[in-house]
Amino acid sequence: MSRVVMYVASALSFSIFWLGWGLRLRKYRRGRRTSPGAPPQRPPLAKRLLAVASNATVIRRNRSVGAAHLLVFWGIVGIFLAHIVVAVDLNFYPFFTRLVARAVSVFLVGRLSMVYAVVFNTAGLLIIVGAAYLMVRRACSSGPRLDYSRAQKPPEGYSRAGLIAGDWVFVSLLFANPLIGLFMYGLEIRADGFPPSEKWQWVAWLLAHAVRAVGIGPGKALQIHEIAMWVHIAIGLTFVAYIPFSKAMHIFTSGVDLVVADPGSARRLPPPQPGSEHVGYLTLADLTRKELLGLDACTRCGRCHEVCPARAGGAPLSPRDFVLDLRQWADAVGGSPMLLDRELRPGGSGPAAGRAAREIAGDVIAQETLWACTTCMACVEVCPVGIEHVPTIVQLRRRLVDTGRMEPSLQLALQNVGQLGNSFGKPSRERTRWTKDLGFEIKDARKEPVSHLWFVGDFASFDTQVQALSRTLARILHDAGVDFGLLYHDEWNAGNDVRRVGEESLFEHLVEHNLDAFGRAAFDRIFTTDPHSFNTLRNEYPEHGLDKPVLHYTELLAELLESGAIAVRPLGKRVTYHDPCYLGRYNGVTEAPRRILAAIGCELVEMPRNRENSFCCGAGGGRFSMTDSYTQERPSENRIREAAALDVQTFAVACPKDYVMYSDAVKTTGHSDRLVVSDVVQLLDEARVAG
Ligand code: SF4
Ligand code: SF4
Repeated sequence: MSRVVMYVASALSFSIFWLGWGLRLRKYRRGRRTSPGAPPQRPPLAKRLLAVASNATVIRRNRSVGAAHLLVFWGIVGIFLAHIVVAVDLNFYPFFTRLVARAVSVFLVGRLSMVYAVVFNTAGLLIIVGAAYLMVRRACSSGPRLDYSRAQKPPEGYSRAGLIAGDWVFVSLLFANPLIGLFMYGLEIRADGFPPSEKWQWVAWLLAHAVRAVGIGPGKALQIHEIAMWVHIAIGLTFVAYIPFSKAMHIFTSGVDLVVADPGSARRLPPPQPGSEHVGYLTLADLTRKELLGLDACTRCGRCHEVCPARAGGAPLSPRDFVLDLRQWADAVGGSPMLLDRELRPGGSGPAAGRAAREIAGDVIAQETLWACTTCMACVEVCPVGIEHVPTIVQLRRRLVDTGRMEPSLQLALQNVGQLGNSFGKPSRERTRWTKDLGFEIKDARKEPVSHLWFVGDFASFDTQVQALSRTLARILHDAGVDFGLLYHDEWNAGNDVRRVGEESLFEHLVEHNLDAFGRAAFDRIFTTDPHSFNTLRNEYPEHGLDKPVLHYTELLAELLESGAIAVRPLGKRVTYHDPCYLGRYNGVTEAPRRILAAIGCELVEMPRNRENSFCCGAGGGRFSMTDSYTQERPSENRIREAAALDVQTFAVACPKDYVMYSDAVKTTGHSDRLVVSDVVQLLDEARVAG
């Protein structure tokens, strides 16, 4: 009878499990297979599989949580395999041997049985220890990572009770069931009088001793064993059914999402879907299958929430909530609901209410949320399961732009770029006005060949504060004998921010114009002042035909210093250096500026957030042309506060926008008397000596 109950319960549990996955797969199949444009830039498959198996992405930024996760991960793998083995041994193998050899037998005997017992017990213990740590940490956590607060809503305007309950149910089940299972075996060992053959059940064996120590005799142990067994089976089968409808589904979705993730997706955005009747994302079918899978892969770890500069400044954006809101909408449309994780409350006034019938951009995800993003990519960088927030945000912005839903200042900047080729609204002929007082003529690369074409960018060309830096760089290159030239008024905005704002047709127009200008010039390499231009020229223009190497000016200067073309003396300053998002995180150029600082004898004191973990100034993704939506400290002020905590006099930058943003932030934070914002090129100029 008990066997029948177990078979029926198992059949029910696994039917729900497969039904849940069937619903999810049906939802994924409604998405697009791939994005148009360049193929993904993934590491080799073996490396990606190793990253999943080692939990490297979980461990990378939080060792203790990563270690606990690794225990649970391998514990689940071990328990899963052990259960398969025992199911085959007890059910299928005897059936098979009866058919073939007319004698019922099992294979889990002798040494195999010992190995099984050790693996089973160790795996169970790994899960218990890992889950216990995660529970304690969750209970003691006080940072923004796990608090589920929503910047854009008053606390009474939403409920996160379902999410919190979902987290606790998941981790509690993980902790409790292996413990009950091992306890059950311990009771059995106690009831059987400690048979030596069961010693290999080493955790259960220890528990059996504990059972005896508290005075439970063999008879009582047998009675409790019966209860523990049914509780263990009930929880186990409930958990199986619960997986595809809960946070537990990430056991399967996260690893797959990590394997198919494209780390280069934000630096090289896809073009619009050919043949689509609308621009950007409008329906579920516009999202890629990878994006839909990614929504289900989110573990709500909050790492992206913690590092997001918009969230930190109180702007109405959290990348975690962006993912969760999209998931609720996709589930509502695709028919694969979560059980506990819904914000919907009776009465249906919650944010998910009626989502299925609403537009994604501006409705499911508020306009202000989409415009708050600086496209800094910090969220993508820290996400342990390979979710790519930025391309999805840009696709939704494309929809907003296409339907004219943007603020007037942004609209004006885009109009300027479209009509004049720059966001400053200045006539093109003024682009090289900054070269007038140099005392020498910079070559016109359209008229004579040069080895280096300098793509200056809008800020370094038109902003009066940054023009001085451009002149400094020009003089250094001239004195170092570098053969360089400009496109003069034929240089237009490279389009990096235009594309990230979502104005794709303008981006294509700019690319066409600049490529035409490149085609009329003769040069070997391009270098840029602006990391944003650097990103699109290096990663997006090649798809359109650019085939020259693209450098950032710090890379060129580091080369010149190391070749001896620039003679310097040690400055002896204590400096800290801010990695621009589009240089460091996006393109991995973190060492060239540091090499320059070392070469000119500066003592570099790193901020806690450095290199790929740098903190955005808040100006990227077109934010410079929009009004602030911060209710708290602006990201640039947050960053200056971080630098001010160090004993340094200089805050070094390598981006024109950073120079402007931080020069302002040192004043607004009251640090202008003790912290000087200097571009790396200014420091190098100060260190120069006559060669
Ligand atoms: S790209 Fe940056 S600003 Fe945008 S959601 Fe991610 S972390 Fe936040
Ligand atoms: S999107 Fe990634 S980093 Fe953000 S909460 Fe989800 S799993 Fe964590």
